[in-house]
Amino acid sequence: MPRKGIALVLSAPSGAGKSTLTAMLRKEFPDLAYSVSCTTRKPRPGEVDGRDYHFVSESDFLRQREAGGFAEWAQVHGNYYGTPLVEVTNKLDQGFDILFDIDVQGAAQLKLNLFNTCFIFILPPSLEELEHRLRLRGTESEESIQARLHNAYDEIKEARWYDALIVNDDLETAYLHLRSVYLAATLTPACQPELLQSLLQGGNH
Ligand code: ADP
Ligand code: 5GP
Repeated sequence: MPRKGIALVLSAPSGAGKSTLTAMLRKEFPDLAYSVSCTTRKPRPGEVDGRDYHFVSESDFLRQREAGGFAEWAQVHGNYYGTPLVEVTNKLDQGFDILFDIDVQGAAQLKLNLFNTCFIFILPPSLEELEHRLRLRGTESEESIQARLHNAYDEIKEARWYDALIVNDDLETAYLHLRSVYLAATLTPACQPELLQSLLQGGNH
């Protein structure tokens, strides 16, 4: 019996390991669709347009925003980010689970706008370790590292309303927690709206 698609929303302070954990989840669950955001920031080495982000100019982003083209949008670290509305609603309607990698401001907008959601916040074991990982990754300027550390404090303060908090200390443990929360979220009655009625009517599951 087809079930409803779930919007699996992951947020984390930059450097906590969200991309790493997301890649692991997508490898194990290849049918999990990914919401490719639009952003005005420049691609990092290795990032592919259309796969990691739709890299757009500021004027294109603002035009799309004015046209109501985003399910949510936010300004993060001085750049615009937004979730294309039509892509997301089409996939959810078709029953696909969709993974969202978005910040807390965008997640709060999605909580108001979407049904069947699961909000997960990834935490670093400490703020010191967060700084260490950002430096080790080697993708940010000193100015960008300082901005991300400053934002981390504010983002962690906003994470109380999420459905699950996962500390990414040991990567394998964090991943086991992430996949468990995902699988549990797909078993809610809201995701399986016809199951009970069908069983009562003599269906076989
Ligand atoms: P984010 O997507 O949240 O910004 P990344 O996934 O890019 O973070 O991780 C930041 C850095 O930390 C990367 O170099 C990554 O390899 C490393 N990292 C991720 N998880 C762990 C972990 N559990 N222990 C140590 N290093 C980690
Ligand atoms: P990065 O530039 O490191 O890829 O992402 C910076 C931040 O922007 C991360 O917290 C990421 O989750 C967030 N982000 C990425 N895409 C979107 C989006 O479409 N909307 C919102 N609100 N945030 C996003």
